[in-house]
Formats: sequence, C-alpha cells, structure tokens
Amino acid sequence: MQDQNVTITERRRQTRNKMYRYIYDAESPVSKQQLASAMGYSLPTVQQNIAELLSAGLIKPGEVQKSTGGRPAVGYSVEDRIRYSVGISVSSANLRILVTDILQNELAYKNVKIRTFEENRIGRQIADELEVFLEEQSIPKEKILGVGLTFPGVIDRERDTIVLSPTLRMKDISLSAIREPVPFPVFIENDSTSGGVAEWIGLTQEERAEDFVYLFLENGIGGAVFINGRPFLGSGGRSGEFGHMCLQPEGRLCNCGRRGCLEAYCSAYRFTRDLGITTEEFFAGLEKGDAGYCALWEEVLSYLAIAVNNLRMAFDCNVILGGFVSGYIGPYLPLLREKAAALSTFETDGSYIRLGRYPTKAGMMGVAWHFTKQFIDEI
Ligand SMILES: [Zn+2]
Repeated sequence: MQDQNVTITERRRQTRNKMYRYIYDAESPVSKQQLASAMGYSLPTVQQNIAELLSAGLIKPGEVQKSTGGRPAVGYSVEDRIRYSVGISVSSANLRILVTDILQNELAYKNVKIRTFEENRIGRQIADELEVFLEEQSIPKEKILGVGLTFPGVIDRERDTIVLSPTLRMKDISLSAIREPVPFPVFIENDSTSGGVAEWIGLTQEERAEDFVYLFLENGIGGAVFINGRPFLGSGGRSGEFGHMCLQPEGRLCNCGRRGCLEAYCSAYRFTRDLGITTEEFFAGLEKGDAGYCALWEEVLSYLAIAVNNLRMAFDCNVILGGFVSGYIGPYLPLLREKAAALSTFETDGSYIRLGRYPTKAGMMGVAWHFTKQFIDEI
C-alpha cells in the first residue's frame, strides 16, 4: 500500500514536472487550454498542476496572450528569479564569476584579476572573491542553488582530483580542498566540457539530437565530444583534450612540456605571451593589415584547419568553435573552412565548422547549468 502511494505521488510529480518543462521551453506564456491540448491532459489535471506550480512560486500568471477574438486567455511563464546558479571560471590569471537565473539569463558578471593562484588556497581565494561579489551585487545567498567551477585541466572523479592543469602549471589538486571553503554546494568540471554543455543548451530541440565536437580556444585548448546529448568522457576523463594532439613532431614547445601540440600553435598565448599584446590588440592590428600579424594568423589558421579536419575525420559531425579566441574568428571563418576543406578527403566545403554562441562565457554558463538542471529535474 505504501509503495502504491509512493508511485502515485511520484506519478503526480512527474506530470507536474512535465508541465513545468513545457512552460519553461515555451517562447511565450502558455495558457491552460494550450497545455491541455499540447500535452493531452484533461483541463482539471492542468488546473490542479498550475495551482500547485503557482503556490510553489515556480510560475507566474498575468501575461495575456494575443488573441484573435473573444476573451484573451491568461498565460503562464516561469518565475525566472526563484533561484540562481553561479558559474566561476578559473584560468591562469583570472577568476570570472557569472550568476544566472533559472532561465540561464545572465544576472551579474565580474572578471577578477588574480596575481597568482596558490595551490593550497585556491578554494579560499574563490570563496573570498565570491563573497565580495555577492555583496556588491546584493545577491541573496539563500537563493543560490550552487556554485559551479571550471578548471583548465583533467579531472579524475574517482580520485576527486585535478590530475593535471598545464595552463595553471599545477597537478594533483584535491577537489575536496577546493570545495571545502566555499559555503555552497560545489560542482567542478573541465572548462571545455562546460563550454560544450552551454552550446548544447543553446541548440534547438532538433539540433540537440545531433552529435557534435566542441573545440575550445583560449590560453589553453581543449574540447568535448557530445554524443546523444551528453559529453563522452573517455575512460580517464581525458576525452576531448584536443589541445595536445600532435600536429608537428619536434615542433613548437607546448605548455604540457611536449612539442608540436595544437595548443602550441593555436593558443591565445601566440598573441599575448609571444607578442606581448592583448588578443584584442592582435585582431585590431590584423584587421589593419599588419604584415607580421597577418603571417602569424595565416599560420594559426592553417594549423587550426588541420585540427578541425582531423576532428571531422574522426567524428563525422559538426565542429563548434568556442572559447574567447572564437569570438574573433567570424571574419576569417570562410578562409578557415576553405583551408579545412582543401585538406579533406571527403568534404567539398567546410560548412560543418560552426562558431559557438557564447565565445567568452560558455564555461561559466555550462557549469552553472549543472545546478539549474538539478533544480528543474526535482520539481
Ligand atoms: Zn601539449
């Protein structure tokens, strides 16, 4: 009898959850009538669930739909400010903090320069900066579902460790030591995987059914492979570490200590560390036709084309470019596509190469989604 009650309660919860998701995914407010006909529920069932969702503060009424005649129906939409999620990106010299609402809209953002991350105090440094930020933005702590952190490194969940981060020049960092000082639930993920998750969320329902490869271009280069809507992690969590694919044996020295990796050729360090300018200054100079910059960019694009063509060859799906460097690639995308197609045995064009929607904030968006998704799943 008890089991039966649990089943009934659970079934009711699932119905409520489905209705919430329908309202969540809808582009405009949804009426009870629309819910009933679209989801095949009776009007009393819809009414009861709407009442429950309203009393839980999860949806809000009042927005009136455009009607072709008669009395306009009341529409319902998601209460976007009910809870917030935080995404924090840890990179070599910055801590970037982003707060999203339940609909993944950005509410607040801050880029904090960090002189050095101290290996034993990373968690404390993050907790202190987050505290200041929440205070500055007047964000109530009780509304925060959790804090997602992205690291440029290989994460071993079983050992609860960041095994290696060439970009941070650290290895074997304990995840529990990072989590411990942060006064919220914490989820830690690789930056490229999180970036890929953000791109996946941004896809339409039909596009989500397609597999894709994500190539993340920042100071470090990483990536992620999405199969059936989920990241494929590999047996050691190192799937998608495209930055360390060797493109040129005995070539340029990489952050990982080896030679000839993609990262050694196409990382943003080619402009910042090697030329001593910002990425923005590099692309401004390139646009003006600076001969030295043009030659360097030609080389970067050529190696990028090799990498992208190899990814296409290995996975036979779209390759989405992300990371802050991808935000500058737009004007050069036709050239990159041309170069990649010229290398291909099968392709006649490079239309499979796409630019991501979030060049600069994808990692934070993706890792924040971890908590938003959990919240939605439990409604
Ligand atoms: Zn390398």
